[in-house]
Amino acid sequence: MVERTVYSTSARRKVAELLRNERRYLTAAAIYRILKTQSARLALSTVYRTLETLASTGVVSSRADPSGELSFVYCHDGHHHHAICTKCGHVDEVSCSAVDVFRAALLEEQAFELDKHAVEFFGRCARCR
Ligand SMILES: [Zn+2]
Ligand SMILES: [Zn+2]
Ligand SMILES: [Zn+2]
Repeated sequence: MVERTVYSTSARRKVAELLRNERRYLTAAAIYRILKTQSARLALSTVYRTLETLASTGVVSSRADPSGELSFVYCHDGHHHHAICTKCGHVDEVSCSAVDVFRAALLEEQAFELDKHAVEFFGRCARCR
């Protein structure tokens, strides 16, 4: 029992650390492959379970690609958005302040009241411009 707890804690630490360093969306399979090259002995099923736990506690967030496959990225606390580099995949966190302008415009021009939103930005990061 104690051993299991230690094991899952270290799995969580390894996966979180990897995502914190990578700063791009990665699938469970990709994370599993990278961890393997770092000779971390985690089963793919452990990687999946660990990602679920990290996602439920808000340490990582996930998105589905068109085929439905989930990928994960490290996230800081608080509401923000992601600017995703289409060249290298780097993810920058962006504040939500621009959405307030959009919210006001929607209300004024279309009488539409915004309750919630999900926005992703795509372009090129500082290194790829
Ligand atoms: Zn984030
Ligand atoms: Zn880039
Ligand atoms: Zn927002």
